[in-house]
Amino acid sequence: MDDKLQTISCDRHSETLCAVVCRHLVNSNGHPLGFVENSSEPDDLQGWCYACEYFFQQQDEMTEEFKRFCDIAVVCINCYADIKAKHSLSALFGANA
Ligand SMILES: [Zn+2]
Ligand SMILES: [Zn+2]
Repeated sequence: MDDKLQTISCDRHSETLCAVVCRHLVNSNGHPLGFVENSSEPDDLQGWCYACEYFFQQQDEMTEEFKRFCDIAVVCINCYADIKAKHSLSALFGANA
């Protein structure tokens, strides 16, 4: 089993590779929440909001408590790029791209 190339069938983008983000980013109602990317593995995209990053730093590791707080959601890589653009720091401060 090759779990590096998992795909997801996305409503908006059809079948693509998947990535994960925290539930806060998925459920946000448009307000930028900040975006922290865990890019230690380029083939395994993970991102979460500043609240999750703060929580993670308090815990200092991937505890069960953190996983519950983060409540990871699987999205397609195109949706991941959209979420990243929407919630990243430049969006937060309204900076020009
Ligand atoms: Zn979060
Ligand atoms: Zn998608």
